[in-house]
Amino acid sequence: MSRDFQSLLPLSRQRVDRDHASRTDADVLRRLWADDASRIVVLRGGRALAAEGEAAAVALITADRLPEGIGDPLADDGSTLYLGRALEGPGPIPPGSPLWAVFLPDAPAHEGTPGDRTSADERWLDLRLTAAELDDLGAGVFTEALAVGNWHRTHTHCPRCGAPSRAEAGGWVRRCTVQGIELFPRTDAAVIVGVVDDRDRLLLGSNAMWENNRYSLLAGFVEPGESLEAAAIREIGEESGVVIDDPEYVGSQPWPFPASLMVGFLARVAPGGTAAERPDGEEILDLRWFTRDELADDRHGILFPGRSSIARAIIERWYGGPLPEAGF
Ligand SMILES: [Zn+2]
Repeated sequence: MSRDFQSLLPLSRQRVDRDHASRTDADVLRRLWADDASRIVVLRGGRALAAEGEAAAVALITADRLPEGIGDPLADDGSTLYLGRALEGPGPIPPGSPLWAVFLPDAPAHEGTPGDRTSADERWLDLRLTAAELDDLGAGVFTEALAVGNWHRTHTHCPRCGAPSRAEAGGWVRRCTVQGIELFPRTDAAVIVGVVDDRDRLLLGSNAMWENNRYSLLAGFVEPGESLEAAAIREIGEESGVVIDDPEYVGSQPWPFPASLMVGFLARVAPGGTAAERPDGEEILDLRWFTRDELADDRHGILFPGRSSIARAIIERWYGGPLPEAGF
């Protein structure tokens, strides 16, 4: 729907030209890696190295600060990813700078890295917790790197024949070592829906995996052979028994925990659509319809979805502004 809404989504901010054309040219990748303007985001265990002296900023370091033997633009193990080139924007990274991600082993084999700093000086950022505080470039490269890194970690073998696969194309393709077929990064689509009734109340549910006073929008994965709209109607029906009409797309955001794309909708309850309302009892334990006044009233002690989430953004879109409680 509106570009304004999309620009509010912390993980949807991109300041990178992904430069698809350079990925498959080994000479170009080597040259880009050697470029003095190259900068690297370093990930370990799904977290990104933080910039020194800043509350929440992703470090973008030069290759000479990487640990010995780490970082290779032609790595076939998925440990180095070409993210693309920086686009125009605020901050010290000039447009055109080649950007990379390097994934350190999860095990503490490289304690004290990168560079000459001790591990005690390092801070590592959790994307989900810090995304809303990061700048556009930092949020974009962290999201891109984490999403592709998660794919490499879980797709080490060919799904057809089970043989090992090796990374190529700057980390954007894996190839089966037996059949030679190309394997591409996967993204799992999920729908998330703000359901509004004829009294302009918003439906929120409490998930079995959360604290019992945390409420959010209902959501679920799109099934194979299903449209986004059909998935929205089905998921709301399954989780709440509520029937909705004409879900309307409002925006989308990658959610690399580990591999989702959240597609946001707003929808109205169909006439008589609450007749069979009930939480599914497995995933959703409680359903509540909130007026705006009820959401704003902190006596309810309701915890909302974190600021990184599209759920938060859709709720605030309906609410008409930032929610009064910080959430996390
Ligand atoms: Zn194979």
